[in-house]
Amino acid sequence: MSDQQKYDSFDEYKIRKLISELESKEGRGTELISLYIPPKRAISDVARDLREEASTASNIKSKTTRKNVMDAIESILQRLKLFKEPPPNGLVIFCGAIPHGAPGTEKMEIHVLEPPLPINIYLYRCDSKFVIEPLKKLIEEKDVYGLIVMDRAEATFAILRGRNVEVLNTITSGIPGKHHAGGQSARRFQRIIEQVAHEFYVRIGEYTTKYFLGKDIKGLIIGGPGPNKYEFYEGEYLHYELRKKVLGLVDIGYTGEEGIRELINRSENLLQQSKLMHEKQVFNNLMATMVNDYTKVAIGKKEVLEKLDRAKILIMSEENDDYHLTFMCPNCGFQLEADIQDEQEPKEGRTCPRCGTQMDLISKEPLVTHLAEMFKNRGTVELMSTQTEEGEQLKNSFGGYAAILG
Ligand SMILES: [Zn+2]
Repeated sequence: MSDQQKYDSFDEYKIRKLISELESKEGRGTELISLYIPPKRAISDVARDLREEASTASNIKSKTTRKNVMDAIESILQRLKLFKEPPPNGLVIFCGAIPHGAPGTEKMEIHVLEPPLPINIYLYRCDSKFVIEPLKKLIEEKDVYGLIVMDRAEATFAILRGRNVEVLNTITSGIPGKHHAGGQSARRFQRIIEQVAHEFYVRIGEYTTKYFLGKDIKGLIIGGPGPNKYEFYEGEYLHYELRKKVLGLVDIGYTGEEGIRELINRSENLLQQSKLMHEKQVFNNLMATMVNDYTKVAIGKKEVLEKLDRAKILIMSEENDDYHLTFMCPNCGFQLEADIQDEQEPKEGRTCPRCGTQMDLISKEPLVTHLAEMFKNRGTVELMSTQTEEGEQLKNSFGGYAAILG
């Protein structure tokens, strides 16, 4: 498995988590900046546009809003200096002063992220909320599946991205479909027809490789009327990498584009299951290890944190609501890290154990993200939803944290 696939669930989780956090945030004025930079945009152009925005912002009437907008633009410009050019998929930046209570509690926040797929819009927006729709849509598009609808007369290839389907091509064999009239053929013609069908399956296999191999698809679904799809799947026509990705063979009534639409409708369960199947496997592996040798597992947050050095696989629930906080003493620079549950978050900073000064909270991130970042170069991170019974069990019986130890 490539690293790309290995950390997929974690990268996606991080972005989904960020999206849901940003969604709830609101500025006191029109002062939250969203900036989408496509891969080909020159950073120098973006910086020039931002300086123009800053000069427009200098006319804002409210003194606080003006200052916050100009500070945010300045923060973004500082961050952009770290890039010679945008990363391969572009760059998305959210920046603004977020209120934490009464006026005057605003804190400047900046989030810089590289999207999982190329972002194709250039957008600067200053509003009371962040613009996250384009990012949301992009995440949805990351669920990509290959579709083949076939019998021995024709085969249609399509790609499903989120809810969008794109039909790629239809190829034909010359063998009449079953809706064409055809009586009994003599045995020697039958053999020729079999040969033509075999060659057609070879071509279907070649097109499948061309369209889907190395394209980061999550699965492949093959549909069609009658038994030809089984002949194709069971024969040696599919590239072995793609064969592993086949989620199922589905009986449908039609071929062609109509067949593709029918296949998507019939495959809803299959698509849902492919996401959830992985969670089941992760959990079953954890249970099997525990039953076999309980010293090889760590269960619950406390034990997982204690034994993290020995862990090979770290399993966490997406629903965990613990946070990892970092405090810093403004007087002596002493730093303190703490893990807490959201509702226990101290309203005031802690006191510095060295000099007694009130410490500042300098960062707050979900504990899941913190642990996954720390751990991902040493082992596998698995995130579980609570959409499966297994995910529910991890959350309820295991406190949302477990690890398989080496
Ligand atoms: Zn101190």
